[in-house]
Amino acid sequence: NKINIAIDGPAAAGKSTIAKRVASALDMVYVDTGAMYRAITLAYLEADRPDLNELLSGIHIRLLAENGQRVILNEKDVTDRLRENDVTENVSFVASDPAVRRFLVNLQQQLTEDKGVVMDGRDIGTTVIPDAELKVYMIASVDERAMRRQLDNEARGIESSVEQLKADIAHRDHLDMTRDISPLTKAEDAIEIDTTGQTIEEVTEEILKLAAE
Ligand code: C5P
Repeated sequence: NKINIAIDGPAAAGKSTIAKRVASALDMVYVDTGAMYRAITLAYLEADRPDLNELLSGIHIRLLAENGQRVILNEKDVTDRLRENDVTENVSFVASDPAVRRFLVNLQQQLTEDKGVVMDGRDIGTTVIPDAELKVYMIASVDERAMRRQLDNEARGIESSVEQLKADIAHRDHLDMTRDISPLTKAEDAIEIDTTGQTIEEVTEEILKLAAE
């Protein structure tokens, strides 16, 4: 009896770190949908901000389950490029486009048909897998999220400041929560987990328990 797990929540709440661990513990496939929106944003920036509908007709995205997830955009592995500032700054704009959302939601739903998927994003429990067996809504304080992102950036060799990250995260949350199409909201049947002050292990354990119920 395979299940799908939906993990949603605001930027930098720990979704991908936890989702990756949960997937590996349960031998499930991990899908990071934020990376898919980031891949389209990268294509958009590289093509000098074309009409998004036209851009989509030339886009092919493939995911490889290797070390978490690799994103292949038109046969090129772009994974390492997706967390850079120019992409982060423009992704919420690109993700608010109806054609972009239709394109990606459709692709994401195909990936969940056979179940056994842990998917993280903003609209997974509400729109992509409304019938997911387990839905988690993960939150954390802005301070903690900015701090974690800072450490994350340091590890990746990306320069940033905590104050700037706090402002950026709050701004991106605002855009994601106020857009017209499937804005970030907690699904009615989602279980909220506040990861502030919790370790990765503790949160992972909590979700594994829920998945076993
Ligand atoms: O999760 P991550 O921070 O990589 O997501 C990047 C952006 O992609 C989000 O800020 C949001 O604008 C968009 N996104 C979305 N729907 C999802 C996943 C991400 O709109 N399911």
